[in-house]
Amino acid sequence: MDLQAEFGLSYLFIAHDLAVVEHICHRVAVMYLGRIVELAPRRALFAHPQHPYTGSAAVRGAGARPRPGDPARSASFLPGDVPSPINPPAGCRFHTRCPYVFDRCRNESPELRELLARPPRRVSSALMAANADRRCGAQPFAEA
Ligand code: SF4
Repeated sequence: MDLQAEFGLSYLFIAHDLAVVEHICHRVAVMYLGRIVELAPRRALFAHPQHPYTGSAAVRGAGARPRPGDPARSASFLPGDVPSPINPPAGCRFHTRCPYVFDRCRNESPELRELLARPPRRVSSALMAANADRRCGAQPFAEA
């Protein structure tokens, strides 16, 4: 952190341990099966994860306790295994394990889109795009 400030450096830090990421990163991109599902400033991401995978114990650690008002709280423990990255599922790659899955998720690959939120953040979810039921996200997207 000192070197970063002194020399104006940027680091790209790739890790599976979010406890480490939480301590050293300013901005975090969460990936599932090779796709970014959420991109947000560190504090916003850890305080209020918007994508079900970001809020799950798989990402936050088995000891992570869901917080009241956390839209992804019931996704804390994911069923099943990660599908093969060689043959990923159609539609949303997370749909085989997502507790909020509905028909559209199995057919459409959701884009990473900006939320109406401060600070700005991006999330990928068909459910949020439909904006009909916000079980996997508390914020609407910026554009219709
Ligand atoms: S698109 Fe569907 S399966 Fe994917 S995270 Fe959103 S609700 Fe879950």
